[in-house]
Amino acid sequence: MRLENKTAIVTGAGRGLGRGIAKKLAREGARVVVADMADTDETVAEIIEAGGAASGFQVNVSRQEEVQALIQYAVDTYGGLDIMVNNAGINRDGMLHKMPVENWNVVIDVDLTGTFYGTQEALKVMRAQERGRIINISSGSWLGNIGQANYAAAKAGVVGLTKTAARENARKGITCNAICPGFIETDMTLKLKEVNDGAAWDSMMQRIPMGCAGKPEDVGNLVAFLASDEAAYITSEVINVGGGMIV
Ligand code: NAD
Repeated sequence: MRLENKTAIVTGAGRGLGRGIAKKLAREGARVVVADMADTDETVAEIIEAGGAASGFQVNVSRQEEVQALIQYAVDTYGGLDIMVNNAGINRDGMLHKMPVENWNVVIDVDLTGTFYGTQEALKVMRAQERGRIINISSGSWLGNIGQANYAAAKAGVVGLTKTAARENARKGITCNAICPGFIETDMTLKLKEVNDGAAWDSMMQRIPMGCAGKPEDVGNLVAFLASDEAAYITSEVINVGGGMIV
């Protein structure tokens, strides 16, 4: 129970990676605000059934006033904010030369600007408390990936944002790190099973040295460590969880 008496927010926690992260933080003793644009009931119920503490909050992370309300909710409900996990993200893949500007804008708005709002609002509380952990979910795609110009640009932006936040706030007792998942089994990636009768999925498995997709818990385990006191001297890092896929 490394996170007892800590309050955490996890965005995009209605399903997928965010749900895995929220459940792990709750198992470690944190009170978790499960934040999502979509339904949060299932994640909250799973945490409570397992004996943890959680509440749901509806938010679109690309709207600043909604993110402000989310942070305020955590402070009002639990008395502060110790751990902010900016996980909500989307993709709209397609080759750059044909990419509609709407697909560029929406991915930047959610994945990059949403992370900016979450980081900025969390910092206001954490700087006053002189403690806190910010963990931003980037992606191995930040290094560039065919069909993901918008997503790669947003996720590279998350790395720059994270490293700057880390440096600006290191003397305030706040750490800020980014995690780059490789290929984790969630609704976002399971879509690939429908492409070419599963051939696209199989070829992805061959690109992963460990030969299989990761699980949301694999990312949750790292988030819990970075959120714990054990990681107090780790900041401005970009850590891969990719079964060897990200070089
Ligand atoms: P997912 O699509 O399964 O879940 C994303 C969740 O975010 C959903 O519950 C969705 O409702 C929520 N969401 C989307 N837009 C939102 C918004 N504007 N405001 C609030 N909530 C919003 O995706 P996932 O695979 O769980 O991905 C989670 C994060 O991990 C994303 O940032 C993604 O880019 C990143 N990531 C995933 C993988 C992977 O292999 N699955 C790899 C690298 C990075």
